[in-house]
Amino acid sequence: PELVNQIAAGEVIERPASVVKELVENSLDAGARRIEIDIEQGGARLIRIRDDGGGIDAEDLPLAVAAHATSKIASFDDLERVGTLGFRGEALPSIASVSRFALTSRARGTEAAWRIEVDGGRPRAPAPAQHPQGTNVEVRDLFYNLPARRKFLRAERTEFGHIDELVKSIALARAPVELRLSHNGKPVRLLHAARTEGDETRRISDVLGEEFLANSLRIEHEAAGLRLRGWVGLPTASRSQADQQYFHVNGRLVRDRLVAHAVRQAYADVLYHGRHPSFVLFLELDPALVDVNVHPAKHEVRFREGRLVHDFLYRTLDDALGGARA
Ligand code: ADP
Ligand code: MG
Repeated sequence: PELVNQIAAGEVIERPASVVKELVENSLDAGARRIEIDIEQGGARLIRIRDDGGGIDAEDLPLAVAAHATSKIASFDDLERVGTLGFRGEALPSIASVSRFALTSRARGTEAAWRIEVDGGRPRAPAPAQHPQGTNVEVRDLFYNLPARRKFLRAERTEFGHIDELVKSIALARAPVELRLSHNGKPVRLLHAARTEGDETRRISDVLGEEFLANSLRIEHEAAGLRLRGWVGLPTASRSQADQQYFHVNGRLVRDRLVAHAVRQAYADVLYHGRHPSFVLFLELDPALVDVNVHPAKHEVRFREGRLVHDFLYRTLDDALGGARA
């Protein structure tokens, strides 16, 4: 099983940021309102995620780190309409097979916390621990037992940059959740939970800067069971060239060709030559109409009605940008 998990890890865990992504998604799936992310040495030395979510029952701890054990779907049919970010049951065993791993958790409504350690894929017996309600996952020495992978880790700053970028994308999509990020003991981001629409707008400017908001249009449109909301940037002389492109489908950040094409087309008339559009967009649709099980890392999706989605995006954005043109 160790080898199988390490092979799965090869597909899901590319670098420290992939670990952070999987762990934070688990915290979100567990209903966390507050997530703390502590990183040391770009994640090569330590990745620690603490949440105040529902936690894991003691008897489920060994299962959580076992291959293909997910509590999120029970049948193949459920896969047709996944409402959670995770569903493959691969992340924890994969991460635990390539690190020194420890998970401490106290389930909602219980008095005792439990901790399980896994060293390079070998789980120890769970032991009693101290912890408030929620879950704490510690991942030390990532890839320590796969020297070839460890060697591929980039400079500390680069790896942390990937983590920060990931935290930003999650912060945009989950404004109601408080997020804290630290690196080598220094606070890097503190994002308070948004409770009002105004707070949500502030979250966008906290993450992307005042200038992004000042130079963007609000999008809010619904048709044919599709809902698009967010902000699209207008080209301005002063704004930097740096790409700020975030597209979320049902709360999941995706990179998708069809989406990219629709956006590019809508921008075709308004963009100065060679500039990249900035946007933060959230598309919501019936989960049954989008397949998220395309790749283990889950950043690709397949729309059941690609044409419909493409045209909806194009028209919505083109209308908004056209209005700004006039
Ligand atoms: P998946 O998310 O695909 O179900 P994972 O390997 O990421 O698989 O996690 C395995 C299981 O461990 C989850 O289904 C969930 O039951 C439990 N789990 C993991 N992280 C947390 C967490 N932070 N809070 C509560 N439960 C968790
Ligand atoms: Mg998961």
